[in-house]
Amino acid sequence: MKQRSEFEKVVYDGGFRTLLSRDQIDQRIREMGKQITEDYRGKQPIMIAVLNGAFLFMADLIRHVEIDLEVDFIKISSYGDAKVSSGEVRMLKDINAEIQGRHVLLVEDIVDTGLSIGFLHEKFMAMQPASLRFVSFLIKPENVKTDIPIHYIGFEIPNEFVVGYGLDYKQILRNLPAVYVME
Ligand code: 5GP
Repeated sequence: MKQRSEFEKVVYDGGFRTLLSRDQIDQRIREMGKQITEDYRGKQPIMIAVLNGAFLFMADLIRHVEIDLEVDFIKISSYGDAKVSSGEVRMLKDINAEIQGRHVLLVEDIVDTGLSIGFLHEKFMAMQPASLRFVSFLIKPENVKTDIPIHYIGFEIPNEFVVGYGLDYKQILRNLPAVYVME
């Protein structure tokens, strides 16, 4: 018999619990887009997605931000293929845009320990932006070990490993339309 893909296991076998439905996600992203629109009216921010996880979230979010804006992408690694942080952040792809004097929004998929945003905060502050704020689709408040403020948070979630909507397990399952907990 043909072996089931991980995608099929999530969608058809119920081995995963739905944490956030597509409707909940859509609704919250609309609200976040509205908030960013109001806060940045009259400015032209640059929204930088942290790859790979945040690409889906940012694509949906910017369609609800109704002002002029630019996008760019940065890629860092922290976890590799593991489920727990290695404690080290490496830069894998840098941005192309000039940051000095710009209003920067760094867009993350999830803040777990906060190690990644700590690294990004230091890197971007050194480039002297006019302002720097973090946006994160998800946050695990029980785990966060940083004081860096995250201005826009989609959802606070418990300390469980989640997949879908851009978030991976060993580089797959990013294409799941909702957020699931791996049991
Ligand atoms: P931090 O540096 O805050 O500890 O971890 C942030 C990064 O770890 C995220 O950008 C994401 O790539 C990964 N991560 C943390 N928690 C989860 C999770 O529950 N699921 C997945 N797929 N990735 C996670």
